[in-house]
Amino acid sequence: MKTPLDTLQTVFGYEDFRGQQATIIQHVIDGQDAMVLMPTGGGKSLCYQIPAMVREGVGIVISPLIALMQDQVNALLQLGVKAAFLNSTLVLDDVQHIEQQLLNGELNLLYLAPERLQNERMRSLLSRLKIALFAIDEAHCVSQWGHDFRADYLQLSVLHEQFPQVPRVALTATADEQTREEILLRLGLQQARLFISGFDRPNIKYSIEEKQNARQQLLRFIQREHLGNAGIVYCMSRKKVEGTAEWLCQQGISALAYHAGMESAKRQEHQQRFLREEGLVMVATIAFGMGIDKSNVRFVAHLDLPKSIEAYYQETGRAGRDGLPADAWMVFGLQDVIKLRQMLSESTASDIHKKKEQYKLDAMLALCETVNCRRQFLMAYFGDQMAHACGNCDTCNEPPETWDASEAAQKALSCIYRTGQRFGVQYLIDVLHGKSNERIVQNGHDQLSTYGIGKSLEDMQWRALFRQLIAKGLVAIDFEAYGALKLEGACRPVLKGEQALFLKRSHKKTGSKQKTNREKRVMFVSPEEESLWEALRNKRKELADKQNVPPYVIFHDSTLMEMLDLKPSSLEQMAGITGVGERKLALYADEFLQVLCAEG
Ligand code: ADP
Ligand code: ZN
Repeated sequence: MKTPLDTLQTVFGYEDFRGQQATIIQHVIDGQDAMVLMPTGGGKSLCYQIPAMVREGVGIVISPLIALMQDQVNALLQLGVKAAFLNSTLVLDDVQHIEQQLLNGELNLLYLAPERLQNERMRSLLSRLKIALFAIDEAHCVSQWGHDFRADYLQLSVLHEQFPQVPRVALTATADEQTREEILLRLGLQQARLFISGFDRPNIKYSIEEKQNARQQLLRFIQREHLGNAGIVYCMSRKKVEGTAEWLCQQGISALAYHAGMESAKRQEHQQRFLREEGLVMVATIAFGMGIDKSNVRFVAHLDLPKSIEAYYQETGRAGRDGLPADAWMVFGLQDVIKLRQMLSESTASDIHKKKEQYKLDAMLALCETVNCRRQFLMAYFGDQMAHACGNCDTCNEPPETWDASEAAQKALSCIYRTGQRFGVQYLIDVLHGKSNERIVQNGHDQLSTYGIGKSLEDMQWRALFRQLIAKGLVAIDFEAYGALKLEGACRPVLKGEQALFLKRSHKKTGSKQKTNREKRVMFVSPEEESLWEALRNKRKELADKQNVPPYVIFHDSTLMEMLDLKPSSLEQMAGITGVGERKLALYADEFLQVLCAEG
């Protein structure tokens, strides 16, 4: 029998296991239960695929993502692994064929939609099979607290009752402890061994810019760093999704829209195109993305602020699953802060739940406003301490300047106080600027001591200051009173001059700054190699189209990149490339060698 390492090398074409993979795989091969928490792209799939191949019988993989089963199975077939899926998209003939394969013991892996298990016929079929293991993918779907709850997941505990001797492995990328506890409880996995990996994604560069003209900023970001790359742009509303996609297209960027309000066929089509074609930008609401395992998404952009760091981290985690450099880029501004605070204030959830949401939102805002390393902040939030700043985020690369805003903050706070805590940001700025509009005069606010004392700061600077006061909880927004600002107790020391307030200096990006950005950027492909890179990608696309599979199912970007770097010139050298296993060597090596030879 092949060892796990043999399987990794000959079938998958990878040299070594990563992180805890080897331990997890051995544990499951030994027939034990496991709960695996690993960040997206960490390599969870191998943790059940290899045990399923090594152990006797078929590995049953429960996955909620029926749209993706086809691709997952295709990827395995490409590797020569005997795999199939059963879900509602199949016709009866196919189902019968797969059932026969199962009964003949011909499959290593079977992907199954959770609702199938309710089916009596399915249960009796399973009882006649030799089962290697059960893998419960996206296990957080069993948690009612989480955002992806699936009722069908609740009854997965029957697996254990019906097949107590079959090892089970639950997998998820959702970090928080509450969800984890709930998974263990509901799946009856309290005895399972826990494998928790660090959540860092070192290849993702985090940047958060101040919102000025969001669309233009996005366009510049794509043009500067990601022309021709695949990416996801998240927006809050359906309308904004459509508007942004259309606008990007007008600007010459191939973009598609995706949101839950679209007709399902259209949505399907866009998702398929995103998976299959190179270099498309998907503009979407959060309805898009759960389990999208396209490995070469090069950037995830947010035009609106997510509700929590968990959501932000999960969404940005869809970038760079292949381990190559990728960007998580976001713009945010005063309006985002106000909008999210408003959603919270209108929420009908219980008080305790609201408190939790409030805490999560505050953490999200603090991430945006921090002047320290973003990654350190993120890791700390998930309970991992990082000793050093990361060197791969915006605040590390260009440490933001701070300024002593104590005096300006005092002016702003006393302006809120003297106008009776009844007015919104723009009005307050007008008073600080000493504008003499009708409303101000009628209210007699041109007579206040704070009238006109803020002329030294521009509109933008005042907005940034108010934003940071709100984010820091010194000032609250009263939504019952149309967004009027009110003082919070926490502002007292600042107001009295007992506590200094340093804020991030907001600056418009200057030309020279952009240049340093470009110089610092890790270039994927040098200009001299661009044509060879394109030729390799074209070959991959040609092979993928022929079989009607997405390109990354043939080879990941990282594999093509290694070919570009090492320029293998023989089958033997080709076999040494990461991601080239025995079957892909036999199927594709010659074709890629020809490309390398012709262009090289
Ligand atoms: P997850 O499901 O945890 O998000 P995947 O299982 O899809 O991650 O793996 C992410 C990527 O890393 C895939 O392209 C996979 O082939 C690759 N990978 C996983 N394990 C290894 C390994 N030991 N060596 C090299 N590449 C690996
Ligand atoms: Zn950093």
